[in-house]
Amino acid sequence: MVRINIEQLKQDICRYSNLLYQRGLVGAAGGNVSSKKGDSIYITAGGKSLRNIKSEDIVEVDPRGGLMDNNTRLKPSKETSIHLNIYKARKDIDCIIHIHPVYATAFTIKGKTVPMVTSTSRLKLKNVPLVGFAEPGSKKLSQLVYQKVLEMQEDLSALMLKEHGLIVFASGVENCFNIAELVEETAKIAYVSGKIGQ
Ligand SMILES: [Zn+2]
Repeated sequence: MVRINIEQLKQDICRYSNLLYQRGLVGAAGGNVSSKKGDSIYITAGGKSLRNIKSEDIVEVDPRGGLMDNNTRLKPSKETSIHLNIYKARKDIDCIIHIHPVYATAFTIKGKTVPMVTSTSRLKLKNVPLVGFAEPGSKKLSQLVYQKVLEMQEDLSALMLKEHGLIVFASGVENCFNIAELVEETAKIAYVSGKIGQ
């Protein structure tokens, strides 16, 4: 029974990972998705594109990042430490999505947060703070995210990473996907409406 649930969880991760790519929320081999069940974290493997990620490309790690399957040839995503830190800081969530959506990421390049220009974004996102620059995959980036998530707790469901992308955390894979899509939709509307105003 437990095994069936895990397989279902992996399939959900894959389905929404593929959708993130199809919706243009991430490109190339960027981005990563994880979900937590019990003491295990299931995360997309490093170097695999979310475009066609499959169940067998999901790596199981413990809360410290240790591989649960010693026989696997896959490596967990290089941003695994960010995922582990968020799960450590937020016991109420069980899914994390990290992507590089064009409009939201463009705001970070200018050092700006995504403006909450629609009533839906104000209601559902409240605000999406920007974390300062650190190299992708670095311990520093993972620490910066951890501090911000600890500080803001339940008020927070998404963070922007400067010159890099977006990280979203929520309960349930579908819910997490919806927040990710809403952040990018809001960034796009903010950008387009800004152009109309000029
Ligand atoms: Zn990234």
